[in-house]
Amino acid sequence: MSLEERARRQRLLEQAAAVAEACRKCAIGAQRRNNVYGEGDPCAQLMVVGEGPGETEDLQGRPFVGRAGQLLDKMLAAIGLAREEVYICNTVKCRPTIEGPRGLRNRAPELDEMANCRPFLDEQIEIIAPRVILALGAPAAKSFLGRDFQITKMRGRWYDGPNGIPLMVTFHPAYVLRQTGGEIEAVKRMVWSDLKAVRTKLEEAPVVPAAAAAPEQASLFEG
Ligand code: URA
Repeated sequence: MSLEERARRQRLLEQAAAVAEACRKCAIGAQRRNNVYGEGDPCAQLMVVGEGPGETEDLQGRPFVGRAGQLLDKMLAAIGLAREEVYICNTVKCRPTIEGPRGLRNRAPELDEMANCRPFLDEQIEIIAPRVILALGAPAAKSFLGRDFQITKMRGRWYDGPNGIPLMVTFHPAYVLRQTGGEIEAVKRMVWSDLKAVRTKLEEAPVVPAAAAAPEQASLFEG
């Protein structure tokens, strides 16, 4: 990827992030401290999409920087990817919260919040054009594949994601961290199998779109 192209994408992402920052479509837009737009390589081959920022992310304005983020970094490292090499974002850019006895708590984003934020996610996918999207957890999977998606039955397969990009769904690292006893190993095995499928897909030769394919031999001699 040329330096010019990288800079162009970075510029587009910065412009889009400024628009997202000003958005107050949902009530959570008024409560959050920071808009957590996303971060990473604008030319990434892999885009990771989580559900929404938690408290730590809201404080820092960066996705996946809490405990779940530390596990995500390890998951990526296990398939030979540094965090900086991928693009990480969420279905919603503001922290979804619920009032608890000790103040605000994290919650999963509502379908209407994901729908409101979807244009920002679609724009990120359009600009970065990753070769693979990895959705973490049921809310992220539902935002791509519909409300009937059941993660325990339907994760670990390839789906047609936005713009025809191959989409894999695996368990959210926060879910992995919540497992206890015998469940831990079983869940880790499933996540590892999904990650290996992602690695294999990234190693496959990229599919060249017809318009960008080599010209017919005859046209080489034209003009
Ligand atoms: N969980 C998510 O889904 N996203 C984050 O950014 C952090 C935790």
